[in-house]
Amino acid sequence: MISVAEALEKLFALAPAIEVETVPIRKAGGRVLAQAVEAKLTQPPFAASAMDGYAVFGSGAAPGDRFDVIGEAQAGRGYTGILAKGQAVRIFTGAPVPAGSGVVVIQEDVDRSGDQITIKTSLGGGDNIRPAGGDFLKGTTFAAPRHLKPSEIALLAAINIAEVPVYRRPDIAIISTGDELVQPGEEPGPDQIIASNAYGLAALIEEQGGVPRLLPIARDDPASLEMVFDLARGADLVVTIGGASVGEYDLVGQVAAERGMDRAFYKVAMRPGKPLMAGRLDGAMMIGLPGNPVSALVCGTVFLVPVMRAMLGLGAAPAPRVRLPLAEPVEANGPREHYMRARITDGAIAPAKRQDSALLSVLASADALLIRPPHDAARAIGEMVEAILL
Ligand code: AMP
Ligand code: MG
Repeated sequence: MISVAEALEKLFALAPAIEVETVPIRKAGGRVLAQAVEAKLTQPPFAASAMDGYAVFGSGAAPGDRFDVIGEAQAGRGYTGILAKGQAVRIFTGAPVPAGSGVVVIQEDVDRSGDQITIKTSLGGGDNIRPAGGDFLKGTTFAAPRHLKPSEIALLAAINIAEVPVYRRPDIAIISTGDELVQPGEEPGPDQIIASNAYGLAALIEEQGGVPRLLPIARDDPASLEMVFDLARGADLVVTIGGASVGEYDLVGQVAAERGMDRAFYKVAMRPGKPLMAGRLDGAMMIGLPGNPVSALVCGTVFLVPVMRAMLGLGAAPAPRVRLPLAEPVEANGPREHYMRARITDGAIAPAKRQDSALLSVLASADALLIRPPHDAARAIGEMVEAILL
């Protein structure tokens, strides 16, 4: 049995690098930017009004000052003349501030009568002008790699990147195994349950920017598993679920070995998730996850997500941890690293009462995995512990 850290290192070594492709910006949300891009223009390209009001001559105005309104500046259609002393231009948000004006007086602060305005109150500190280049300058670098969030998509659009270099979405085949499994929506027989793990893992993979490929459920016989392994060909990563323990019907290791799997490890000193295996099979990376629902999803968080991030150029690093005080005491831990389903209340963390690795309801209501290092001593309320936020 190897440690979680050793298993992660071996997984990173197996992770294939994913190539770069170019997609239209409309399709770049949630993708990983693969190369730095440069702003193709300056924003705002001109000094722009931040308010609806009047651009007045000079750089200030006092109560009682009067100006003749000689024109109008709208967003998209500026005023082309130059203001002289005593002149103002009606201006709207986003319009270029005309030459000769250094301040926009908001419309609430003036009295207008015909084509004349009178300043009502003393102006606040600001000039209500967005300076040219105040947001970004042409040539400014937008660094890669990064997982593009909606605000960054807007920024890429604003800097005029219509085609975005991103890593291809990794193709990840998911194979559920077991005679007891049926798909969601089907009517399970008396001895059957729903193949839930594959769906949770697919959602996790999609969240990270991968394309999960749910293959038919492999039955607990070698021919069926062989057939589904054949369907997985071409994937960057093949993830199997279940069938990885040492029971008579645990065929994954056996069938994979017969197909020539180059196994990197089997069994990790963790709870839940001990019967984890990984290696190379049919030209792809393969991870064999345990079948228990909590084990499969915890391994998804602890291993699959960091592996995907490594594949997508985001660096080979474990899932980020936070430090929190315990809200309840915990007992001493055994030899395996324990990932306890836990809840965070008022900034303190407490493990759920029931830690059985079959309990999806407990995992679904957990906010975090509280990490107990191997052989960690009993800990009291208030002691600091590490956790992975879910
Ligand atoms: P196994 O490793 O195949 O012995 O599976 C361990 C436990 O996880 C058994 O109770 C299985 O019924 C359950 N299990 C295996 N695969 C899945 C799956 N895809 N979805 C939900 N439960 C599963
Ligand atoms: Mg099974």
